[in-house]
Amino acid sequence: MNISYLVGMDERGRQRLKANACTHCDITFFPRRDICTNCFSEEFLQDQFLAEEGILHAFTTVYRSLPQFKTPYVIGYVDIPANNVRVFGQIETSSPEDLKVGMPMKIEIIETDEGKGYKLKIKGDLN
Ligand SMILES: [Zn+2]
Repeated sequence: MNISYLVGMDERGRQRLKANACTHCDITFFPRRDICTNCFSEEFLQDQFLAEEGILHAFTTVYRSLPQFKTPYVIGYVDIPANNVRVFGQIETSSPEDLKVGMPMKIEIIETDEGKGYKLKIKGDLN
């Protein structure tokens, strides 16, 4: 399995998260859906890339995990207000001690595990 249904390359060659929106009620879904959970329509607008500006909704540091995952690492939810969606993922940052709920963040998408996963990398300095 790969994540091409979640991640795609934009016109500038950057990895971006892909979402779709219901034609009838304009709700955006990530991950993309085939049926709208609001109105049960099966008609969707063309896929769209999510904005790169988000707000950290919640996060935690994982210290114990399966053997194949190197710990510690940070996971969390990021709200993307421009698309009105909340995204879950591993959060990669050089300074996890500076993460704060509610902080604005600019995210970059990195494919991992040979295209089987993705990370939300925080761009730039957090301060
Ligand atoms: Zn709908």
